[in-house]
Amino acid sequence: MVLVMDFSFSSDQNQFRELVATFARNEVAPYADEWDAQARFPLDTVLALGKLGAFGVTFPEEYGGLDLDFSTLCIAIEELARVDSSIAITLSAGVGLGANPIYSFGTETQKRTYLPAMCEGKALGAFGLTEPDAGSDAGATRSRATLDETRDEWVINGSKAYITNSGTPITTLVTVTARTEEGISAFIIPAGTEGLIIEPSYRKLGWHASDTHGIHLDEVRVPRENLLGKLGKGFSQFLAILDDGRVAISALAVGLAQGCLDEAVSYAKVRNAFGGPIGRHQAVAFMCADIATKVEAARAMTYRAAWLKDSKRPFSQAAAMAKLFSTEAAMDAARMATQIFGGAGFIEGNPVARHFRDAKILEIGEGTSEIQRLVIARGLGLPVS
Ligand SMILES: Cc1cc2nc3c(=O)[nH]c(=O)nc-3n(C[C@H](O)[C@H](O)[C@H](O)COP(=O)(O)OP(=O)(O)OC[C@H]3O[C@@H](n4cnc5c(N)ncnc54)[C@H](O)[C@@H]3O)c2cc1C
Repeated sequence: MVLVMDFSFSSDQNQFRELVATFARNEVAPYADEWDAQARFPLDTVLALGKLGAFGVTFPEEYGGLDLDFSTLCIAIEELARVDSSIAITLSAGVGLGANPIYSFGTETQKRTYLPAMCEGKALGAFGLTEPDAGSDAGATRSRATLDETRDEWVINGSKAYITNSGTPITTLVTVTARTEEGISAFIIPAGTEGLIIEPSYRKLGWHASDTHGIHLDEVRVPRENLLGKLGKGFSQFLAILDDGRVAISALAVGLAQGCLDEAVSYAKVRNAFGGPIGRHQAVAFMCADIATKVEAARAMTYRAAWLKDSKRPFSQAAAMAKLFSTEAAMDAARMATQIFGGAGFIEGNPVARHFRDAKILEIGEGTSEIQRLVIARGLGLPVS
């Protein structure tokens, strides 16, 4: 029997890659440093990305999506991250954390209400799991929701921290986890609901052009039917969402590392020292070789995890491994690329300086590297806590 292993992408996937890569080159790369320096969410560019269909890639046509696979979404995220992580996380979070919970757990009415505008990229949803005192240990959620039977409304109180896409001009909803008598449940809070207080933007180390806020929930009232999914199952629902998110972040890391490789190799060919290009010194050439090797391995792990998901096989373990490896590879790539640029790599305006700052969060968001190791070790059957 012949073992079939085909690592090629389909023609649909290649076409979408070319579409997004062209957009990234022409509509993102020339402006990314300006958005970063001004910490500006590039609304017009996000809307233009929406017109390409990027926010609806994985969703069925009946909700306005393109009905393509998850691997294609990863391809889009990778191509954007190659030039700018902020726009890549806006897409990744918009699809994976905004629309996906509605699609995966929403009622038909919730899907029809929210998904079409999200698929078009005209509306963004945010995902409020993390709290000031519950991040890695998200089960320690303190926010509470109680049912006011007289008015058929949930009343939600609490705080959320570091929530992506929660305060953009096109944010239409935030889904949050909160304790109920039955356990942790999830709720849809439409933007503008009284008591939903979006705090000022954080000053972040990186991802300057991505939108991130703390949220305060002060007697927020939503109709009974804004429960998302099953009562008491909000935590396990959100954990399932994070499995997808981990593969998406892994794709983002591949893109960032590839961007570092592109910049480092080009520079090593033209920057001269001691009578010739720095790329003729083994120390520099070997750093490029190491980055290239890490990119290759990270890409293989990312798309294998995406392929497992697309073929409806278990992929939690592969997702955790891909996220762990790719995000650490991205940090290494950013460090080496900056080194290859010497002093120029430390100066803002140089894409590698931005990649260097943008890389760190990849090892933290959607489960830190330690949490990925915990998931992987548990998958090995170890009684680690
Ligand atoms: C820019 C940005 C965007 C984000 N977007 C979102 C979003 O959209 N929605 C959302 O819900 N959250 C979001 N987050 C939150 C992010 O997912 C959390 O920051 C992350 O999960 C870590 O939680 P924490 O910050 O509370 O760190 P902590 O949980 O306090 O961890 C601190 C350190 O302790 C380690 N640690 C904790 N527990 C263990 C353990 N059991 N074993 C070993 N080490 C451990 C961690 O790995 C880490 O190194 C975002 C964060 C940032 C910075």
